[in-house]
Amino acid sequence: MSSASKTIAPQAAILPLVFQQAVDQADVAISITDTRANILYVNPAFCRVTGYDTSEVVGHNESILSNKTTPPEVYKSLWQKLARGESWSGTLVNKRKDGSKYLADLTITPVTDAGGEVVNYLGMHRDITEMHRLECQVKNQKALIESVVDAAPMVIALLDADDKVVLDNSAYKTLMADLGMIEPASLLLASIRSELAHEETAARNDGYLFLDREVRVERPGVNAPRWFSCSGVRVHEDDDRADAFFANEGRSYLLLVAKDITTVRAQQEKARMAALQAVMADESRVNVLRESLSAAVFQLEGPLNMISSAVGMLTRREGTTSPKAVALGEAVRMGEEALTGLRTMIPAQSVEAESVVNANELLRDVLDVSTGRLLGAGIRVTWKPQAVLPALRGYPNKLRSLFKALIDNAIEAMSVRGWRERELTVTSHALLGSVEVIIEDSGPGIPPELQLKVFEPFFTTRRQGGDGGRHLGTGLSAAQQVAMDHGGSIEIDAAHTHGCRVRIVLPVQRDHG
Ligand code: FAD
Repeated sequence: MSSASKTIAPQAAILPLVFQQAVDQADVAISITDTRANILYVNPAFCRVTGYDTSEVVGHNESILSNKTTPPEVYKSLWQKLARGESWSGTLVNKRKDGSKYLADLTITPVTDAGGEVVNYLGMHRDITEMHRLECQVKNQKALIESVVDAAPMVIALLDADDKVVLDNSAYKTLMADLGMIEPASLLLASIRSELAHEETAARNDGYLFLDREVRVERPGVNAPRWFSCSGVRVHEDDDRADAFFANEGRSYLLLVAKDITTVRAQQEKARMAALQAVMADESRVNVLRESLSAAVFQLEGPLNMISSAVGMLTRREGTTSPKAVALGEAVRMGEEALTGLRTMIPAQSVEAESVVNANELLRDVLDVSTGRLLGAGIRVTWKPQAVLPALRGYPNKLRSLFKALIDNAIEAMSVRGWRERELTVTSHALLGSVEVIIEDSGPGIPPELQLKVFEPFFTTRRQGGDGGRHLGTGLSAAQQVAMDHGGSIEIDAAHTHGCRVRIVLPVQRDHG
């Protein structure tokens, strides 16, 4: 106890001197006034900031610094607070001795005597003109950038590391309303990322994560899709939190810019559709030829096999020189020759390169190509696509043939004379790791006992020759083969009783092994 009081005594003795030196040397402008703001003391920093010497301000009121442009309400609130014995902090417009103005960030604290009575005021202020100028500059720049971004005729969004949109422009908001309040950035990015997942892309060295990626956006109930050319840039921001001052790792954002290129793409699409129509018509002709020849071979093989076994029986019974056996044997040989000839005439399947495909796009192609037939048959089409589907690797022509076979079947099924309900619904969804397409018609449907049989080669529910022998029933078996080639499946929904509902599931990633 005694040792503590021993150490306090010398400190108490030097404290007033230390305080005096600290106040004198402080870099903040300090003044001490009486209770009416008449200046009693100013430190050297006060003189530096205001341009006045000590002798020029001591005895004067602090209002000597007022530029008379600070609104009176500010002073009113200042004095009201001081009158309550509280400190006041705020910004005032001050004037230096030379008449130049500066912004003072001022704090006034009442100083009380031992009885709690306010006897003085302590004022501390800093010139914050430069800081204010910089703040204004940043604010103005931000406002300028925001108005430019807002007026830009492209969709712009800034996303944080969790893909949350932290900033967007009015074109973005308009697109969002158009898409039924679905976040456009999520749609566009999902599509781009699913495409990138299929590509072996080297890291870009131009700062872009992706550049001019075209994304097709479907809108349920709207016939024409929209197209966007998207680019993405990584943007880095310094971390402004106090604890990040010495270890600033910053935050990373993705700036997504999407340009609406629907008009340009619509033109390109028109030309592409015309070419596709010709290719598909050609392919369809070749397929019909392949189907007809395969069916002819299949149908001839049966009787030929029967004759062949009859020849065997005759030879066993009557010997190899039996005239009947010889004649029939010759007929079998000629038949087999004819079959071989027919087999060589079956056109080979066209070899197609695998590529990144979008099921919505292919379905749209097929619906567009089939428009004439659908209108002719008086069929109402409902197109219910998922706005953006993940891309998959596949054979575009084969997949188009698959969808076309199913849509052709639906058209034929509903074209029965007198059938009134003629509706075709085409739906697409993204499932976990795959894409699901549902093609549904309001026709007579397929009886449950035939729902598996229809996938057998050469099976048909139509009467032979009923359509001029054009369709011999390889459509569904070929469609199933295409689905299997893509690692997927195709099935008829047994639970669906009103018409026929076919479900195709195609995996996004396929095991090539
Ligand atoms: P008014 O505010 O009406 O002032 C008229 C006079 O009355 C002034 O002498 C004022 O000090 C005094 N006064 C007004 N209300 C009260 C009250 N409720 N109680 C006691 N006196 C009152 N002003 C600046 O513009 N710049 C500064 O840097 C600045 N520093 C200050 C530092 C301290 C420590 C204090 C106490 C005040 C400071 N002031 C400052 C406020 C200043 O005293 C004036 O109130 C202000 O400048 C406006 O003066 P005015 O003559 O335009 O009008």
